[in-house]
Amino acid sequence: MKAARTRSASASGASTPARVRIPAILERLHREFPDAKCALDHGSPLELLVATVLSAQCTDARVNKVTPDLFAKYKTAADYAAAKPGELEDDIRSTGFFNNKAKSLRGLGAAIRDRFGGEVPRTMDDLLTLPGVARKTANCVLGNAYGIAVGVVVDTHVFRLSHRLGLSAGKNPEKVEDDLIDLVPRSEWIDVSHLLILHGRKTCDARKPKCGACVLEDLCPSAEPAAASVGASARPAQPSRVNLRKGNPKKTETRR
Ligand code: SF4
Repeated sequence: MKAARTRSASASGASTPARVRIPAILERLHREFPDAKCALDHGSPLELLVATVLSAQCTDARVNKVTPDLFAKYKTAADYAAAKPGELEDDIRSTGFFNNKAKSLRGLGAAIRDRFGGEVPRTMDDLLTLPGVARKTANCVLGNAYGIAVGVVVDTHVFRLSHRLGLSAGKNPEKVEDDLIDLVPRSEWIDVSHLLILHGRKTCDARKPKCGACVLEDLCPSAEPAAASVGASARPAQPSRVNLRKGNPKKTETRR
């Protein structure tokens, strides 16, 4: 069942410029997902940072199963830095890529302990010096742990929906983030990611978007007729891969 919509002549129409459509898109998504928030369970900036590192190539639900025991065992950055060889790997094994992730957690734990007095830094520049932390993770921590909006989290859902909704044609997450920053009011930079991620999971699936049940159908240039919306065959070509490693190849951050 579609949610009730508030249409205005200026905002309706998929061919309308994105800058005109974006207020209605945000309004409808807020109505659809009034409790949108970060899906990674956490109680502190350090816990969110760790959870975000673990979420690379892993579902948030899987990460949330692992973190209660992990957070009970490793309470400080120093605890991660001092984790015994093999033990931290075992503790996070089910999230996949556990060797790389354990290396990142030890490294960022040591960096936070030694260079930041045990506190997760509050600036993009400082966060980007931590092992395994690229812009997506830094934006997530700044926005959701500290309420500081310096950018927009662009994961695979945000990347895909930004293209489908005609908000960006950027070929990498950095360009998509730039376009969203330009389009979306700063007060919405944190929420817009949660909203697009939830909408991507619920309705705008990567392979089978449910356009006929979508609250954004009349605002979306990629909307398909109901008969075609179960498949992506009629969809304009979309970037098939999100290059989240662009920039620093040493960063281990990957799409969630
Ligand atoms: S109309 Fe279809 S392609 Fe556009 S946002 Fe909705 S589900 Fe996605």
